[in-house]
Amino acid sequence: MTDLGCGRSWDDVYRVKPSRLTCEGCGWPMNARLSPLQVPHFAHQPGAPGDCQAGGESPDHLYLKWCLLTSAQEAGAEAADEVEGPGGAWRADVLASDPGGRWRFALEAQLSRITPSDI
Ligand SMILES: [Zn+2]
Repeated sequence: MTDLGCGRSWDDVYRVKPSRLTCEGCGWPMNARLSPLQVPHFAHQPGAPGDCQAGGESPDHLYLKWCLLTSAQEAGAEAADEVEGPGGAWRADVLASDPGGRWRFALEAQLSRITPSDI
């Protein structure tokens, strides 16, 4: 998102010292940085609690999820990330739905090797 979803640009937060960013998941201080593949992302500063729900996914995985979300929206679907099914039976990285309610697809970001039987 050009405004990071909050009305601020990447230049407003990248390499700004001291960082005033905090994680929406756990409240821990964060930094805006670039991955080795130059993917902009946010990372907890050292010492963050290990159980933060916003942590644990690589910048490349987050970027792929963002690509899935925006591509579905550009194709005319309603799309949301991290959608949980009834009773927590499943969780979609991105759930794309027909605005008329006729269909929906769960889109999963998968960057590591996986076999058909594991899928
Ligand atoms: Zn956090």
